[in-house]
Amino acid sequence: MVKILLVEDEPAMQLGLKDNLELDGYTVSIASDGEEGLAAIKKESFHLILLDVMLPKLSGFDVCKSARAAGIRTPIILLTARGEEIDKVLGLELGADDYITKPFSVRELLARVKAILRRSQANPTDNPQDKIQIGRLSIDFSLFQASENGEEIKLSHKEMEVLQYLFKNKNQIVSRYQLLENVWGYEEQITTRTVDNFIVRLRQKTEVNPNQPKIILTVHGTGYKMVI
Ligand code: CA
Repeated sequence: MVKILLVEDEPAMQLGLKDNLELDGYTVSIASDGEEGLAAIKKESFHLILLDVMLPKLSGFDVCKSARAAGIRTPIILLTARGEEIDKVLGLELGADDYITKPFSVRELLARVKAILRRSQANPTDNPQDKIQIGRLSIDFSLFQASENGEEIKLSHKEMEVLQYLFKNKNQIVSRYQLLENVWGYEEQITTRTVDNFIVRLRQKTEVNPNQPKIILTVHGTGYKMVI
């Protein structure tokens, strides 16, 4: 049974999304404001969280940030308002895995939900090398956990996926478009710049000297190469 938490304050959206998700076989819990949402996230475990940004009491960003700070790694899709470019960037930086802009079609949302769940529930035995060392980080891909000298380092779901993809293709050039297609998958609004920004952040977590990377190298005009 796949459990989804929907944090949304508009009753019509709540009902519409709940119905459609349930028709697709998901079990849906609802929280109507940010505080209620965060409490539910801390209390129960879900497979996925759909999180509206504009919420009473606590914004979706705050909920996302607090959940990640509490070590909760459940994939989060933010529901943002149209054209709020800053929201998207901020949301991803705060640890959300994806966002969808209102108004969206139910079909599109369901496709995103499916894609995120597929990735987060991918059978860990698919990859025999679940536990690896990337630069300063020890990573366990099966648990989606990273640590440095025994201390936990927080990586977003997406950051893990980028690392995992680069690792699977280690010592080969991976283009930005390959990363976009294989990690983000479907999102036309995500640009190659998003990829570059992600890499900059990842280097800060993996490289001894992020300004002189030795692990995730830039291949000018093409993309990146993980050297391990
Ligand atoms: Ca709202």
